[in-house]
Amino acid sequence: RRLDLAHHLPAQADHRLIASLGGSRIITRAEGSTIFDGEGNAILDGMAGLWCVNVGYGREELAKAAYDQMLELPYYNTFFRTATPPPVKLAARIASKMGGHLSHVFFNSSGSEAVDTVFRLARHYWKLKGQPQRRIFISRWNAYHGSTVAGVSLGGMKAMHAQGDLPVPGVEHVMQPYLFGEGFGEDPDAFAARAAQAIEDRILEVGPENVAAFIGEPVQGAGGVIIPPEGYWPRVEAICRKYGILLVCDEVICGFGRLGQWFGHHHYGVKPDMISMAKGLSSGYLPISATGVADHIVAELREKGGDFVHGYTYSGHPTAAAVALANLDIIEREGLVERTREDTGPYLARALATLNDHPLVGETRSLGLIGAVEIVREPGTNKRFLDKEGEAGPVVRDLCIRNGLMVRGIRDTIVCCPPLIITHAEIDRLVSIIRRSLDEAEP
Ligand code: PMP
Repeated sequence: RRLDLAHHLPAQADHRLIASLGGSRIITRAEGSTIFDGEGNAILDGMAGLWCVNVGYGREELAKAAYDQMLELPYYNTFFRTATPPPVKLAARIASKMGGHLSHVFFNSSGSEAVDTVFRLARHYWKLKGQPQRRIFISRWNAYHGSTVAGVSLGGMKAMHAQGDLPVPGVEHVMQPYLFGEGFGEDPDAFAARAAQAIEDRILEVGPENVAAFIGEPVQGAGGVIIPPEGYWPRVEAICRKYGILLVCDEVICGFGRLGQWFGHHHYGVKPDMISMAKGLSSGYLPISATGVADHIVAELREKGGDFVHGYTYSGHPTAAAVALANLDIIEREGLVERTREDTGPYLARALATLNDHPLVGETRSLGLIGAVEIVREPGTNKRFLDKEGEAGPVVRDLCIRNGLMVRGIRDTIVCCPPLIITHAEIDRLVSIIRRSLDEAEP
């Protein structure tokens, strides 16, 4: 494994030095769905940056929103019982998108912080309710919920747990609803029932009276674009209700149109008690995140809690919030949510499906504009390279980048998550570059 030295660059590093350090590619500018490196190579950004640049690059409107707000009031805190107009407007706007029962938001800067807010707030809530023993969170293996202590703990990445002696006590992990993996060949609904049952079994094992919350992404992103069968989430919701457990959806990737709805949980028709959101909220132009909180939790805090002593210097940052507002304007004006649901999402699904005849492809899947291609050793099976020869994903990913497409390789899976403005022609190019890279990877 190579260290990602991009995080440790000396201040004076020039391009050649960086190349010799870790092969890092310097991205110097971008437009629409295309990024350009220091040598002028155009690369189609099949990852929307890091699952975030939903409205694409080069939006003057967002730069202007930041400029205007910086001149008016670049920063003020929300700590001295103060507020500024942009986050107040943004909170109302987010609440209108979340839906009736989720009426409040707590602002942070990153997705990890939004998840940390969930962690503290859920336990605090149960303490206020007179059930302080409800401390356990249930999550899934391979889940990614951020890089802070709470995020890594709630996440299910064993390699990350090994660094920093995590998870903290009180986090339980259960199986992913990964049909092509654990459920290969199974009837999708029977598998959904089995994956949900694993959650209920764990709840019963640790004692329902000790469980604070279940957390999951509607579609797991960094876990490998795991799209659960339709029957999974309603079952998970029913289990949470049965035992009075809070349901939390991590919408950091799925929010703001990615799955063809404003939030991923809308697609599955469930009603979480809290959601975390980031990335697409500002399309990555400035860091901002939020935690959406249901009425009944806010009511409890108001009634008994006094202040929830929690917050960051940059909570409710006015400039970031002004950019987020302008970003939501674009998403609405251009109908990007509907377009993803009705046009580009189905188009991506059909385009990816043309790869199914490739001998290295075991499955393609997508929902809205997030998709995956499973690379297998034998057609018709789910046998991995991973088991024997190392991971195939990063090998094909490197070929894709060389061929002008940025994607991620997660174990033996190629995943994509392009800007929501991607065109049909760009989707065709994305898929044809994956095919060409698979051809080149074949021994
Ligand atoms: N949750 C999910 C589902 C994510 O995908 C991410 C980031 N990839 C995070 C949380 C953490 O967000 P951030 O990197 O902004 O802290």
